[in-house]
Amino acid sequence: MKSALVTGASRGLGKAIAIQLSLDHGLHIIINYTANQAAAEATKSEIEANGGSAELMQFDVKNNQEVQDKMQQWFTNNPENKIEVLVNNAGITRDNLFPWVSENDWDDVINTSLKGMYNCTQAVLQKMLRNRSGRIINVASLSGLKGVPGQTNYSAAKGGMIAATKALSQEVAKRNITVNAVAPGFILSDMTSDLPIDELKKMVPANRFGTPQEVADLVSFIASPKAAYITGEVININGGIYA
Ligand code: NAP
Repeated sequence: MKSALVTGASRGLGKAIAIQLSLDHGLHIIINYTANQAAAEATKSEIEANGGSAELMQFDVKNNQEVQDKMQQWFTNNPENKIEVLVNNAGITRDNLFPWVSENDWDDVINTSLKGMYNCTQAVLQKMLRNRSGRIINVASLSGLKGVPGQTNYSAAKGGMIAATKALSQEVAKRNITVNAVAPGFILSDMTSDLPIDELKKMVPANRFGTPQEVADLVSFIASPKAAYITGEVININGGIYA
């Protein structure tokens, strides 16, 4: 049996990705979340309603010990199962102009996206190397490529993920493991729900925000056998706002 671990799969992009990976690839989905169990249960119900299988796994991606312990336990309990796909999706924003970015907000944003990617990838990579197969997909952002004022912490976190994606992809390519990043622009989710959408969409050539489903379809393609020769890439999905 093959599985996918999707971090931050209770809501938004992660939820859509979890559902799509189940639909397209028949993978058992490990739905990670940190606080919102009801939302994680809703993701699981939707996957099961489509005929798929899923389980919840609560951990804070920032906490290395917690991630290693939970995943080790999972591997022990599921000896016949392997993690084929890891989607490092959990992320937060704490936007402010740089002089007002507290140390806490700097650390939390970096530790969720960048350290979270380290923690979760560490937890599954050895097994992928032994299996000689795997897909690691990092959900970065336009902010990590272009740099966005008011988001120095977030731009640094996502830029770090992009650089690590390129480096790691070269380490593991020989073992049939691909490592790619997607860089969404404005996508409709809880993260963007407080933004002035009507104002901001004017900056987007497509004149709209993207949907979690559109990101999920891209991630699902990268996870597919058809994408075996794509690695170390950062794929923009932003309605034309930045290339
Ligand atoms: P969202 O709606 O706010 O959902 C965030 C998800 O991450 C939730 O499932 C949340 O779990 C989980 N999460 C947050 N901190 C976590 C932690 N420490 N450990 C484990 N899970 C954690 O965000 P989204 O818009 O879907 O964003 C998903 C990813 O896409 C993020 O990495 C974000 O940076 C990136 N992105 C989003 C956009 C956009 O426009 N929305 C654009 C570019 C990139 P709980 O439900 O338990 O809180």
